[in-house]
Amino acid sequence: MVVLARAEWRPRVSGSITEFVEQLTLVDHHVHGAFRTDGPESRFQNALNEANPEPLTRPDSAYDSQLGFAIRRWCAEALDLPRHPSTAEYWQRRVELGETEVTRRLTSSAGVSDWLLDTGFEAGQLCTPTELSSASGATSHEIVRLESVAERLIVELDDPGGFADAVRADLAGRGPEVVGAKSIIAYRTGFDIDLSRPSDVDVAESARRWRDQIERERSVRLTDPVLLRFGIQAAIDRRLPLQLHVGFGDRDIDLRAANPLHLLDFLRAHEATGVPILLLHCYPFEREAGYLAQAFETVHLDVGLAINHVGARSRALIARSLELAPFAKILYSSDALGPAELHYLGARLWRNAMASIVGGWVDDDDWSEVDARRVLSLVARDNARRVYDLA
Ligand SMILES: [Zn+2]
Repeated sequence: MVVLARAEWRPRVSGSITEFVEQLTLVDHHVHGAFRTDGPESRFQNALNEANPEPLTRPDSAYDSQLGFAIRRWCAEALDLPRHPSTAEYWQRRVELGETEVTRRLTSSAGVSDWLLDTGFEAGQLCTPTELSSASGATSHEIVRLESVAERLIVELDDPGGFADAVRADLAGRGPEVVGAKSIIAYRTGFDIDLSRPSDVDVAESARRWRDQIERERSVRLTDPVLLRFGIQAAIDRRLPLQLHVGFGDRDIDLRAANPLHLLDFLRAHEATGVPILLLHCYPFEREAGYLAQAFETVHLDVGLAINHVGARSRALIARSLELAPFAKILYSSDALGPAELHYLGARLWRNAMASIVGGWVDDDDWSEVDARRVLSLVARDNARRVYDLA
C-alpha cells in the first residue's frame, strides 16, 4: 500500500491573511441608522435584546449575554477604555462622550466604505443616510422597505383602487440613491403562503378592504397576503435586488414560518427573472440558506444581526455560512440598529472570524492564499458591489 505524504512542511501564513482582512474595506449591505440623540441607559440595554421587543423588567440583564460581553471586549478601545471594563465604567464613558461622539468614533472605525440603509423602521429616532455618512465618512445608499411604501400610500390615496399603480409609480420614481428593496413579509404572514403574482383586480379589492379596516381599527399595519406579495412582485418588475428578512428577529415573527425552505415554489418561479434575492440574517437557518444559494442562481445570503448577538460564537456561525453557498453568493452585513456599537462590532467580529477561519484553512493547506484573498474580497465588498451595481 502506498500512502501519499500529506504535505511537506510549509510556513503558517495566517498572519498575512489577518493583515489582509484588517485592511479590507467592507460594504455593509443591510444596516439601519444609529441613535441620533442621547438617551437613558435602559434604551441602550434594551437595544441589546433583539428577540423581546417589550421593555425588559430588568434591563441590566441584557449585559449578561454574548453581545454584552463582546461590546465590552471589542468596543471599549474606541471609547479610550481598557478591554473588558465593568458595565458601569462602560456606560459612564458613553455618557461622558455623548451619543453623537460615540457614533462618530464607532462608525468611522468600522472600515466600512458603503452602508446600504433600510430607512423604513423607527425613522425618526435613527440617523438618516446623510447623517450616517457625515458621522462615518462613508457613502450611504438606500434600501426601500416595501411595507412602509404600502402603508404610506394606502392613507394618501383618494381611491384605494389605484393602489397597484401608485406602488409602481412610487418605485419607478426613486432615484439612484435607492439600490434595492426589502420585504418583511416573514413578520407579517411568514413564507408558508402562495407568493405568486396577484392580478390588479385582486390588488384593488384587497386595498379597498385594507382601507376600510384602517378606518375601523386606526392601525395601518399591512398584513394582507395579496398586497404583501404584490409589493414583492412590483420590486422585482422594477428590477431592484430584493432583500427578504429570514429567520431571527423579534418575537413578533413566527420563526417556524421564517424558514427560507418555504420559499422553494417562489424561487422556482422567480429564477427566470434573474433579479437577485438576498436572504438576510438567516440564523438559525444559515445552512438552509446556503443550500438555496447553491440551488438557485438568484439567491444570496448573509448572517448579519446574529453575528453581533452570538458574539464569541460568531466564528462558528460564519464558518457554517461558508459551507454549501457558492462564495460569490455570500455578503457581509451588520444589521446594526440604534447603538453604534452594533455598526462597529459587526465588522470587528466578521474580521476576527474570517481571519481565523480562512487563515486556518490556508495554514492547513486546504486553501491557497491566493484563493483565500479573493474570497475574502468577494464577501467583504465585491459581491455587494456586483449585486447592487454600486459604483
Ligand atoms: Zn434589519
